[in-house]
Amino acid sequence: MEEQPSVEGVTYVCARCGRELRPQDFELLHSIKCVYCGSKIVYKVRKPYVKRIKAI
Ligand SMILES: [Zn+2]
Repeated sequence: MEEQPSVEGVTYVCARCGRELRPQDFELLHSIKCVYCGSKIVYKVRKPYVKRIKAI
C-alpha cells in the first residue's frame, strides 16, 4: 500500500495575492512567506480530497 505523506495534503494561500503556495516553496526560501509577492501572511489550507479513510 502506498500512503501519501500527510504534508502532501497541506497547501498555503497567500493573504495578499491569493496564490497557492506549497510547503516546498517555503523550504526554498527558508522562511514562511509568499514566493510571489513576499507577504508573510499565509493561510494554511488542508485539501480534503487527499485524505482517504479506508473502508473496512
Ligand atoms: Zn502573495
